[in-house]
Amino acid sequence: MDAVAAGVKAPHDAGSHRRATEERDDMWLAPGAARVQGAGIRTRPEAPDPLRTAFQRDRDRIIHSTAFRRLKHKTQVFIAPDGDHYRTRLTHTLEVAQVARTIARALRRNEDLAEAIALGHDLGHTPFGHLGEDVLRDVLGVPFHHAEQSVRVVEVLERRPHGLNLTAEVRDGISHSSWNRSLPATHEAFAVRYADRIAYLNHDVDDAIRAGLLRESDLPSAVGRALGSGSSARITALVSDVVEASDVTSAPGLCPGVRMSRSVFDVMDEFRTFMFETVYLGPAVAADMSAARRVLEFLITHYLDHDAGEAGGLPEAAGVVGDPREQRLVDHVASMTDRFAIGAYERLSGRTVDLTSV
Ligand code: MG
Repeated sequence: MDAVAAGVKAPHDAGSHRRATEERDDMWLAPGAARVQGAGIRTRPEAPDPLRTAFQRDRDRIIHSTAFRRLKHKTQVFIAPDGDHYRTRLTHTLEVAQVARTIARALRRNEDLAEAIALGHDLGHTPFGHLGEDVLRDVLGVPFHHAEQSVRVVEVLERRPHGLNLTAEVRDGISHSSWNRSLPATHEAFAVRYADRIAYLNHDVDDAIRAGLLRESDLPSAVGRALGSGSSARITALVSDVVEASDVTSAPGLCPGVRMSRSVFDVMDEFRTFMFETVYLGPAVAADMSAARRVLEFLITHYLDHDAGEAGGLPEAAGVVGDPREQRLVDHVASMTDRFAIGAYERLSGRTVDLTSV
């Protein structure tokens, strides 16, 4: 009589589910895709998870982080808009993850890795969008880039002081997620770079139309001719182009095995230039941004003038205890949501902030 017939439970094989996923991935993924086994490559060694691959585990750690939850109150384009339908940094992040997963799956790259990088790529974003980065650099005279700060969030500031202990591939992808950074190591990280740009251009034009700043017919004619009309058509055309132009067989190290055709890339560039001229640097957004700049300049100067622990000084919870004061100030200000920054400004300055755009 065998064990099942005898009603004896087979011994539990911890890790069999994860190994089955790893084996399935290994058979199905393209040659250039990232593969992971066991606990993955981490700064501090860990036991593998019984159910999830190392990349799935990283994705879950990011979703459960406090920095991820704060993204819901950080600006995408419009600061604290009145309407509930405008994007925030959180919904931007979710749209990037959706596009990145579509690209990764179509190209048989590692969808879990692409998702983890996408969900983590903006964790270090300052309040008030890119303006926050500019103000930190201008006032403190220190180099600051949100991609580097995102790495600092996952390596140090979450579960401080040891961070989330993510795999090397996810940290590399986050670190190189921005187009003005050097090239990343994996095809999945390239997919996230394209997904980020495809997502923000299209959801920002959608929000700008909602705010009455643009009409669909204002977009450059080349965009309509090449990509169609409306966000859905444009996203489909851009994602399809990445899938068609990429090389499924390219080996690791032959990046970019994930790419866009030259002609569509040029159209996307024209689209992006248009968005900078009319929306990102346009008058409606600029009015709120000058108010936001006042808020951040005040806060940084205030924290420089008041010692930690002193009334109105840098809170004890800011940054990592023992770090230089300037680093703790950068970590504290960069972590703020828009509404937290506005609240701190109003409390410490006794003045109110008037935001006008949408
Ligand atoms: Mg982004």
